[in-house]
Amino acid sequence: MPRILMVASEAAPFVKTGGLGDVLGALPPALAKLGNDVAVVLPRYRGVALPRARIWDGLLVNAGPNEFFAGVDEVVRQGVRYLFIDIPALYDRAGIYYDSKADYPDNHVRFAALSQAALGVARYIFRPDIFHAHDWHAALLPMYLRETFGGDPTFFGVRTVFTIHNLGYQGNFPPSALADLALDRALFRPGLLEFHGGLSFLQAGIAWADALTTVSPSYAREIQTPEFGFGMEGLLKSSAPKLTGILNGADYSEWNPETDWRLAARYSAADLSNKRECKMALLREMGLRLDPDPPLAGVISRMAYGQKGMELVTKAMARLVRHGLRLVALGSGDVALETEFRGLASAYPDQIAVRIGYDETLAHRVEAGADMFLMPSRYEPCGLNQIYSLRYGAVPVVRAVGGLVDTVDPDTGFLFHDYSADALASAIGAAIEAYQDRGAWMNRMRLGMSKDFSWDASALQYHRLYQNLLERRPSP
Ligand code: ADP
Repeated sequence: MPRILMVASEAAPFVKTGGLGDVLGALPPALAKLGNDVAVVLPRYRGVALPRARIWDGLLVNAGPNEFFAGVDEVVRQGVRYLFIDIPALYDRAGIYYDSKADYPDNHVRFAALSQAALGVARYIFRPDIFHAHDWHAALLPMYLRETFGGDPTFFGVRTVFTIHNLGYQGNFPPSALADLALDRALFRPGLLEFHGGLSFLQAGIAWADALTTVSPSYAREIQTPEFGFGMEGLLKSSAPKLTGILNGADYSEWNPETDWRLAARYSAADLSNKRECKMALLREMGLRLDPDPPLAGVISRMAYGQKGMELVTKAMARLVRHGLRLVALGSGDVALETEFRGLASAYPDQIAVRIGYDETLAHRVEAGADMFLMPSRYEPCGLNQIYSLRYGAVPVVRAVGGLVDTVDPDTGFLFHDYSADALASAIGAAIEAYQDRGAWMNRMRLGMSKDFSWDASALQYHRLYQNLLERRPSP
């Protein structure tokens, strides 16, 4: 069975800011269940508390002229070795990617060091057949493997997979980063390390990886077009033969209303009666009028301008409150958007409640308490919240893009096309109308709840991809 070394900047439950963390918390155990030997390399950020887990000291990590000696801490979880790279000078900070809303200026060094540390782990601690790197943070690894260690017998026959979780985050740095990392100037060319005059980590991952995946089949097609390609569509189109879309799964051991301890009451598709209690508990917790009948919409999102469509939600809601719609929104991000949401809540305190921040428990309660769930994304690589919504009977109202089209259909949710508040408002309007017919609405909920997006099927696709790569590997 293949030995897989994953490299990423987040993995739930240790550290998570979004879907990337969810994937690294669930995919590795699902692969281990299929018999793969899996380890995951992560930075040991300040927030990761691991008592007495040190298995290695003094691992030499070079990121250009910068030299670090890393400790490695290990936690075995669900059959997977999670290996944390402890370099306090790089990772022992208040934030993960930024502090007070500005990116750390040495992020290129911090994450180049992560790839180099993973190569060190491969040498001494866990020797893989496949490196599986995730997002820009780990994207230099395939390049290092081929260009820096191409002649090193330790790595003969080792193959690389690179997964794009979100093309909008590219890890682009000014050209001075090249010298900071002592990268070979000959590789500073368009389509390799150079992107619009600067250094792009993500592009390097695309260029050097043996296989490329992204997190839904629709997104795999979309990123080859100018609308979704963020300037990399040309390279992605020419990389199409090595690119596949594999849908993320949901971790139903965490996201299941039949067993979720965070809820006021548990319920299932067979017996939905307690969902009403969850709705009342949510209304109470958020200080909204305690009336179980009018529809309640939910939002849980990073408040990122340009991706999540949150600016459409505030505009559409300002119109829909007249029709009795209520909203609970949970999220944080751009301050201007947070302010818009706060403003809406103070204008309609009976109908709209907003919690700015990150709150895992409340996220589960919103899914359970809401009748419908809004995801009007401009683009959505996969999206997990709509998958959770389906399972919790919060009917998704989504824009027909990326993973949203691959998971929601007109029988289980409501889809719209134009990226506009009008289009969102009319899709929500259709949902409100459908909500009036309780029987049909319950059937729609039940159908959504019965959909299965568990990791098993997706993990099998990754497993096959690894096997194909290893079968086709060139002999040394
Ligand atoms: P993305 O990765 O683009 O942020 P996804 O829908 O793929 O979007 O994943 C988002 C994940 O992060 C989900 O598990 C969601 O519940 C969680 N999440 C996002 N914002 C918050 C928040 N403010 N509080 C709690 N969980 C959140």
